[in-house]
Amino acid sequence: MIHAVKHHPALELLEQYIEASLAPELSLAIAAHLDLCPHCQRIKMDLEAEAGTALASLPEAQTAETDWQQMLDFITAQPEIAAKMEKRQPFALQIQNSEILLPASLKPLLQNKLKWFNLGGISTAKLAGEDQHNVSLLYIRKDSEVPQHTHLGLEITLVLKGKIYDESGCYGEGDLLINTPDHTHTPRTMSEDCLCLSVLTAPLKFKKGLTRLLNPLQHLFY
Ligand SMILES: [Zn+2]
Repeated sequence: MIHAVKHHPALELLEQYIEASLAPELSLAIAAHLDLCPHCQRIKMDLEAEAGTALASLPEAQTAETDWQQMLDFITAQPEIAAKMEKRQPFALQIQNSEILLPASLKPLLQNKLKWFNLGGISTAKLAGEDQHNVSLLYIRKDSEVPQHTHLGLEITLVLKGKIYDESGCYGEGDLLINTPDHTHTPRTMSEDCLCLSVLTAPLKFKKGLTRLLNPLQHLFY
């Protein structure tokens, strides 16, 4: 990947991901980010190794480093594990007339045909989510703007293709934007289309003038 990922989940979030204490939808966003981010993959491995070392250093479970490496080699040689690792390969999907490579973690959610809703330059397709959390793809055409909004809950956006800009910067492929009720922003695209994964734990709330009229339409975004 040419773009170096710059915006990562906080360490705390990665720890919760490893402990499997996150809601499944949030885990999905972190898993998809990990697929795209070698930096966080290394941190994850370190955290897992730390957890492993903590276990191994329990009395009577002292394991020499070489044994540890042998054990790892043995585990990764197992067909089942090897198959799981192969699944990390990205896969191509036809989205809005272009073929886009997507992180392996999203594959289970993209088995069925996507149903897009269009509103101006923005299209959304819901992938999953019932009561509390909502997972969708957001396709924003070039030179388009998502009206200024704040968040009633947590909004996690993972850029899958292209670039998105808001008041706090520019985000490219693999970058993760985390917004809370304290943030108000106006994400927009510039010269290229952008595809994002969006996870919301509560609806968006549009802020300005006429766009407040969008609030009844927020099911498109949530
Ligand atoms: Zn990262």
